[in-house]
Amino acid sequence: MNYRHAFHAGSFADVFKHAVLCRVLTYLCEKPAAFRVIDTHAGAGLYDLTSSEASRGGEWHDGIERLLQASLPQAAAALLKPYVDVVAALNEPGKLAVYPGSPALVRAWLRPQDRLIACELEPQAQAALARHLRRDARINTLAVDGWTALSAHVPPPERRGLVLVDPPFERDDDFPRLARSLAVAHRKWATGMYMLWYPIKGRTEPDALAKRLGRLGIPKILRAELMVSALSDPSRLNGSGLILVNPPWTLEADLKLLLPALLGVLRRDAKARFTLDWISGEAPPTR
Ligand code: SAM
Repeated sequence: MNYRHAFHAGSFADVFKHAVLCRVLTYLCEKPAAFRVIDTHAGAGLYDLTSSEASRGGEWHDGIERLLQASLPQAAAALLKPYVDVVAALNEPGKLAVYPGSPALVRAWLRPQDRLIACELEPQAQAALARHLRRDARINTLAVDGWTALSAHVPPPERRGLVLVDPPFERDDDFPRLARSLAVAHRKWATGMYMLWYPIKGRTEPDALAKRLGRLGIPKILRAELMVSALSDPSRLNGSGLILVNPPWTLEADLKLLLPALLGVLRRDAKARFTLDWISGEAPPTR
């Protein structure tokens, strides 16, 4: 395990993933019934953007820093506000030195009745995660394999919530594994929401993933992709994708506003673009 998210914290891919995560969390909080989030690959929880790791790549300059400095269309700014507010609350006014990972963002939405299970296997990240989220009875940080946890912890007792699967893609088989693991978990908990993240360097693996997912017989799978640059250099991360199973009924409309706004902020070249489509199932009726 060589991957260290500290190098990538606050990057364009984090901003896209976390902006969508916060929309899903906001939706979950609209009903009083308890929910549970299972974060299978949680990372360290909080990131020091002044650390040598974060400074070396400097990826947050092209991600969260751009977002905080952007002047966005009003509707998109309103959708992003809860996420931006959590980042701002961790920092001194007008400064950016700390960035929240997915478990810290989830914590900001947890009500007394809600729960978070955050799994992290890499020892240093696990220790940091446990330190950052300690003394919160609603949160359980586990030093376990996230792939195993994915099916072991579903369905949750609350029968309501989200599974976030955000692996490091260090292994060649992480793309097929994503589809296999979703199939197993979905058989156990068909009504849960799942959010899967994947990198886009070229088209081969993302397209093969979509085909695999389309064959699973899962009724509602929405796909959103944000390419910040042309796919001409497959050694770089040119974009990222999100698979949303059983997304909130409001999410497609949110994404129609968020994707163009995020593209405008995060783009690196003229070939940047986004896509939004249903891999399976129909768009839920609008209310
Ligand atoms: N979800 C985090 C966020 O959005 O802030 C970022 C997670 S990062 C992309 C992937 C994490 O998975 C890394 O911290 C890595 O150490 C961890 N990891 C790698 N293999 C794992 C495994 N089998 N089980 C759990 N965590 C793992």
